[in-house]
Amino acid sequence: MAEYLGVKVDIASNDRARHEFLEAAGEGRLTLQKCVECQKLRYPIMTACPFCMSADSNWEEVSGKGTIYSYELVMHPIHPAYRERVPYPIVLVELDEQREYPTLDDGLRLVSSLVDGSGNPEDIEKVAINARVEVEFADLGDGLALPRFRLSDDVPEHELWRLPS
Ligand SMILES: [Zn+2]
Repeated sequence: MAEYLGVKVDIASNDRARHEFLEAAGEGRLTLQKCVECQKLRYPIMTACPFCMSADSNWEEVSGKGTIYSYELVMHPIHPAYRERVPYPIVLVELDEQREYPTLDDGLRLVSSLVDGSGNPEDIEKVAINARVEVEFADLGDGLALPRFRLSDDVPEHELWRLPS
């Protein structure tokens, strides 16, 4: 049984795309749906292309490198499994692939956890908009894994910005 932080990961049996996404992660690969028609990558997982409505897509592996586009700090756990993890950051990561495409406001953005080298929530003092991150994978069991992110050594393209404390 797949689980994360002691909680069962329940994937609907007919949700093939989500299963394939987590299965690729289990092999250490971050893959996104790529439209067969217009060739654009997309996320979150969905059945049709948001740009051209085509239902045909293939999985494409991406680098897993990106930038923190925005974030929030969770001070109160919303689930008992997170009780020991507060305060923790939730990040909106913009991947390097397909930035500012098809318009300047577009990009591939994933809501995710930001963790340190041990899989624990990253110190909230270290989280910043524009900080560079890279994907890592949390094992869920059953050959599945959950993509999440950690800070990388890449030099940020823009100045870091943090919530005033
Ligand atoms: Zn398309």
